[in-house]
Amino acid sequence: MKRIVCREPGTFELEASSAPTPGPGEALLRIHRVGICGTDLHAFQGNQAFFTYPRILGHELSAEILSIGSESGGLAPGDRVIVMPYIFCGNCIACRAGKTNCCRQMAVLGVHVDGGMQQEISVRSDLLLPAGQLSHEEVAIVEPLAIGAHALRRARTELDDTVVVVGCGPIGIGILAQASAIGCRVIALDTDAGRLAFVRKALGIQDTVLVDEQAAAQVAQLTNGDLATVVFDATGNKQALESGVRYMAHGGRYVLVGLSKGELSFNHPEIHAKESTLLCSRNATREDFESVRAFLESGQFPTGKYITHSVPFEEMIGHFESWLQPQNGVIKAMVDWTIP
Ligand SMILES: [Zn+2]
Ligand SMILES: [Zn+2]
Repeated sequence: MKRIVCREPGTFELEASSAPTPGPGEALLRIHRVGICGTDLHAFQGNQAFFTYPRILGHELSAEILSIGSESGGLAPGDRVIVMPYIFCGNCIACRAGKTNCCRQMAVLGVHVDGGMQQEISVRSDLLLPAGQLSHEEVAIVEPLAIGAHALRRARTELDDTVVVVGCGPIGIGILAQASAIGCRVIALDTDAGRLAFVRKALGIQDTVLVDEQAAAQVAQLTNGDLATVVFDATGNKQALESGVRYMAHGGRYVLVGLSKGELSFNHPEIHAKESTLLCSRNATREDFESVRAFLESGQFPTGKYITHSVPFEEMIGHFESWLQPQNGVIKAMVDWTIP
């Protein structure tokens, strides 16, 4: 089989290797599609904290079972599956509470251990879900959309909420689409007018606000002065993260989905006056993956528009650096591992 190894920052190598041998409790999978995410781009550039090389990247996976052991949870060879890339321990305080998404020993496929940029991979069977009615492309976008599903659930987002999403990249788009499906009033914010045009066109979001000094006043105007009951940051940008409370209503929730590297500071009187609830949202659980599978099966998400770039795996290395350039308008790039 073939695989693409990130040897060191800036260097990918396509190489031949023997197929992996699944251990106890693992299934052998054939990879169909791999979605490319900001994490992969940062790892390639060498600015991903705690990353070690060489590493096989890829955690947004669409796969098919080649072989599976007896404790298969009803899955069988030939089944197409969604892969949850979060290898949780099952024993720590978070796992015992069902919060496997923030396991103390978390290892993420394609980040801490080798991921899916290879034709075959062995993965723990309890990290697999049946693909249902989803296409290969839809299966590969379940993970990034599950990040949004988890964030919405974390904030107990309901029909009567007014939601502001700051950052209209692949994660923000997932939050916007799923908040709209819940029936919330949604307002999209970004510093890039092109991204706002994308969410208007692809998702039918009517209220979009370009982030500048007037942005909070515009959100106030759109909400009769109330502001948003839930604000999601999907930028991971320090300045954006520290400004998000401005869009939040009194009594509201502020959910940090994007991750910044250093410290954040907030004006205490401002967050206190609003009796702010500050939440972090990390990864996703099986429940979130199931929720996204149902959401995609309902046909409400424009997968074809979300996936802006698509290449066979032998062409990936040549295209990868162009996906780092904002002017190329990449929302989601996808690699097909079934055709060279
Ligand atoms: Zn990702
Ligand atoms: Zn754990």
